[in-house]
Amino acid sequence: ATPTSIMVGIGRGAEMGILFRKGEALQLLKDAQVVAVDKTGTLTEGRPALTDLEVAAGFERNKVLAQIAAVESRSEHPIARAIVEAATQEGMAVPALTEFESVTGRGAWAMVEDARVAVGSDHYMHELGIAVTDFAEVAERLGSEGKTPIYAAIGKQLAAIVAVADPIKPNTPAAIEALHQLGLKVAMITGDNTRTAQAIASQLGIDEVVAEVLPEGKVAAVQRLKTTYGRIAFIGDGINDAPALAAADVGLAIGTGTDIAMESADVVLMSGNLQVVPNAIALSKATITNIR
Ligand code: ADP
Ligand code: MG
Repeated sequence: ATPTSIMVGIGRGAEMGILFRKGEALQLLKDAQVVAVDKTGTLTEGRPALTDLEVAAGFERNKVLAQIAAVESRSEHPIARAIVEAATQEGMAVPALTEFESVTGRGAWAMVEDARVAVGSDHYMHELGIAVTDFAEVAERLGSEGKTPIYAAIGKQLAAIVAVADPIKPNTPAAIEALHQLGLKVAMITGDNTRTAQAIASQLGIDEVVAEVLPEGKVAAVQRLKTTYGRIAFIGDGINDAPALAAADVGLAIGTGTDIAMESADVVLMSGNLQVVPNAIALSKATITNIR
């Protein structure tokens, strides 16, 4: 590869909103065999909204929602924002907290007045020793609708199941189709619930799903996909995507995402539109072919 042709390719990328932070990425991208994509904020808008709330027998809906919102008012997770927004829209006063702890990739808990309130995934409830079987059917239905089920426990009792839905970005389906047309496999790597992830993946025609991955597990998932398919490009936006962006052969960060993701990436996509990814691969192929 001549430095001049690489420079021309990088310039062309910039015009398309694709910033190559390393010239090497432009050369490597053409040989990608699989594109692994983070779900939340990459395939989807990353702005979930609350869609469902069911309380267990003996619990009062509004009181539980206020307690959950109190815990989530201290969390920075997009799911937390959705829950707080819903409570605020209903004009609820969020009760005061004394203690608070966020458990990464799982949920959060707090002392809300004199109750210990925990909110999070089924794994988190399991770790707390709280059975979620009473809501098994509801959770299954919500997941198959592509919604994320979240549980709330008050003390040692399961109090509610909540669901949030995060819309798919309008350009995502076309981007995946274009990647398939280039002969690539597309995989999804997500911390979200397996059923939810599978519902969204099947809507999008995604080939492989790795779900319920803890933030530290994303790198292992990238390495596993690399062993299966060959050269891998990974696209993500979050703090928890940074190690995977660095571990992939080519890491592509969404420019509307976190600074840490962009710093760990080889390529920054200026918009949140994934359709530039197949364009970047096509550019890589054109640039490197012209060199020979
Ligand atoms: P991702 O960003 O890939 O969806 P995360 O690792 O951020 O995944 O979270 C994984 C799961 O942990 C979420 O789907 C949710 O079930 C649970 N979770 C994490 N933080 C919270 C929170 N603040 N409130 C409720 N659930 C949470
Ligand atoms: Mg994300």
